[in-house]
Amino acid sequence: MGAALPWLDASLWACVGLLIGSFLNVVIHRLPRMMEREWAAECAELQINEAQGKDASPLDESPPFNLLVPRSRCPDCGHLIAWYENIPLLSYAFLRGRCSECGKRISWRYPAVELATGALFFFCAWTFGPTPEALAWSVFSAALLALACIDWDTTLLPDNITQPLLWLGLIAAALQWTPVTLPTALWGAVGGYLSLWSVYWLFKLVTGKEGMGFGDFKLFAALGAWFGWPVLIPMVLMASVIGAILGIAMKFTTGLREGGYVPFGPFLAGAGFAALLLGPEDLRRLLSF
Ligand SMILES: [Zn+2]
Repeated sequence: MGAALPWLDASLWACVGLLIGSFLNVVIHRLPRMMEREWAAECAELQINEAQGKDASPLDESPPFNLLVPRSRCPDCGHLIAWYENIPLLSYAFLRGRCSECGKRISWRYPAVELATGALFFFCAWTFGPTPEALAWSVFSAALLALACIDWDTTLLPDNITQPLLWLGLIAAALQWTPVTLPTALWGAVGGYLSLWSVYWLFKLVTGKEGMGFGDFKLFAALGAWFGWPVLIPMVLMASVIGAILGIAMKFTTGLREGGYVPFGPFLAGAGFAALLLGPEDLRRLLSF
């Protein structure tokens, strides 16, 4: 790929993004279920061990369920999705958003995630050119998008994504693939974790409720690693303000989900995207820091 054809490079990379987006749909759908199955299996094993002593073997007869198997099916009729029904964006358009077997609507979220991933990959390739930076920020974008959707759906932020994202941020800083130095990234991670952790405990001491989960601390630590500690306050302000506005709007319109809980992760992720798209400096200027 040559730097002389940035449009072509970026468009090719956007096509890779569409395919990754298609995979993200699988991750968003299956990872929480995989975690639930794991917890259920651990609980069952614990009960068996308690009942029969330590030698008992776990009774795990269930078929494998991971990101690769089984193949995707229509959630309504169980129709196996053929490869040509699984092409990012095109299949959705071709099928007019309906299952080819039973005609039930396919959620708009699938093409939206594909399109968003493609657009983010385009942005990364366009901004950074054919460099390791573009690859690093593309991985960052994909992980952040998956986390936002999973948290919105399930209020979970899987360690399987937040932890590698944090480490990758530190490694990318060490390799100078991000605009921050390693100490700035390191203190960003520490500050990100500790700041929300402190808010969590203060909130819990004062109100007796839990306003956040530990996944939020890890996600914010990861954002700190990628953007550096100076962007932490602008990011958390942006996430809180938008989260509060949307929370109030939801209260008056559709009504909140049970417990009136709006997950914080999607808004943290949104602030992360803003920092990527605007650049950390402009984000700080926008919020006058
Ligand atoms: Zn169907």
